[in-house]
Amino acid sequence: MLSPSDGKEISRIARGTAEDVDNAVRAARRAFEGAWGQTPAMERGRLLTRLGQRILENAEELAQIEASDTGKPLKQARADIVNAARYFEFYGGAADKIHGDTIPFLDGYTVMILREPRGVTGHIIPWNYPAQMFGRTLGPSLAAGNAAVLKPAEEACLSCIRLAEIAMEIGFPPGTINVVTGYGEEAGAALAAHPGIDFLSFTGSPEVGTLVQKAAAEHHVPCVLELGGKSPQIVFEDADQRLAIESIVNAIVQNAGQTCSAGSRVLVQRSIFDSFIADLARRVAAVRVGPHGDDLDCGPVISANQFDRVQGFLAQAKSDGVPVLAEGVIVEGAPQGGYYVKPTLFGPVPLKHSLACEEVFGPVLSAIPFDDEADAIRIANGTDFGLVAGIWTKDGARQLRLARAVRAGQVFVNAYGAGGGIELPFGGVKKSGHGREKGFEALREFTVAKTVVLKHG
Ligand code: NAD
Repeated sequence: MLSPSDGKEISRIARGTAEDVDNAVRAARRAFEGAWGQTPAMERGRLLTRLGQRILENAEELAQIEASDTGKPLKQARADIVNAARYFEFYGGAADKIHGDTIPFLDGYTVMILREPRGVTGHIIPWNYPAQMFGRTLGPSLAAGNAAVLKPAEEACLSCIRLAEIAMEIGFPPGTINVVTGYGEEAGAALAAHPGIDFLSFTGSPEVGTLVQKAAAEHHVPCVLELGGKSPQIVFEDADQRLAIESIVNAIVQNAGQTCSAGSRVLVQRSIFDSFIADLARRVAAVRVGPHGDDLDCGPVISANQFDRVQGFLAQAKSDGVPVLAEGVIVEGAPQGGYYVKPTLFGPVPLKHSLACEEVFGPVLSAIPFDDEADAIRIANGTDFGLVAGIWTKDGARQLRLARAVRAGQVFVNAYGAGGGIELPFGGVKKSGHGREKGFEALREFTVAKTVVLKHG
């Protein structure tokens, strides 16, 4: 594992094989059919809540691991660890509140709908928020009574390993949580194709999501897919511009733009376009980029590959003549060999340009003018993605019209939560994926309804 801050090795991890995945799935099955499956919901909840508490007690150690592994600034890593704990608190509290239903049916019958765990769940997650993703995907699965196998990303997985250790220390039965590190094409593909899993949760790129869903389909394994985004921030002339600018910049520099819900397209009403982007440019130019130990606004991107990918977008846009409106600053003394990208604001970006359509997954904003509400909706919905949208206007009726018209899994009005809180269902439409994580919706995904029909005369 290489540090994104200076490119030097920070640790070595096991390269899990298909055999390791098979062992993990078998261990999970034994736990599900044994000790974990027999653990009452109330006790499952206690364990999850305790895990949340233990994460908070170890927060600084975990934040240091997360910051050095992903390169993100410490203050961001600290917030990530608090969120990881929140997932276990939230789902710990929910574990004994997952209940079914009864349905009125024919005379002489009682019909019950039981919500049962799916069994063994597989989880494949990316490198951008390893600790948070650990909580987001395992919290609801374990609360519902499943046993799990997690394959974290090869670029950043150290916090996941430490979190699994902490879970073992506090007494989850053996086999309940299994982590297999390794490469996507090896361990990840083996997990997606394993006939012994009952449900799969994948977060990552649309391309790999397609492969994973195809592999799962071979065994009719259902999945949740959380994929990419090209989320719009739609700014009307009556918006609180200062608030909008602060939020837009924070959302794109957070995690160096490597956030699926990053609001990377800034749609601005033409009447204020020039003045708004001038103010936005001043704010972008003030962003400071540097190594994870310093508490700056923005860290490096995760790897040499990701650096090349983002630089490719920047070079292409510049050579196509898309105007650069502002670039942030890489601090003096940032180590050689780190993957530092200057946050960049382009505009106006032509609608068909790759910057306006494709996910860059870096600190890059594309400003695009629009004429009126209808034009804003057309542009906002004009990509293959539909993950999150931000709407900035003081007009209440317009807020509601836009919130309904924009095709996205989450819509923020006069705020932008980049994914939002633990309580809020999250997921995409179109190429951004399907199914929902977070909140109570996730518990529906990780359970299955069983209909029991009793005839009692
Ligand atoms: P990726 O798809 O390359 O990798 C994601 C995970 O899949 C990793 O664990 C990887 O090892 C594994 N993987 C790779 N090839 C595989 C294969 N053939 N079979 C099975 N598993 C395989 O994505 P990434 O580069 O790590 O992450 C960036 C992408 O993730 C972006 O597109 C981003 O938008 C998306 N993302 C989405 C969300 C969301 O919630 N919607 C959250 C974070 C990231």
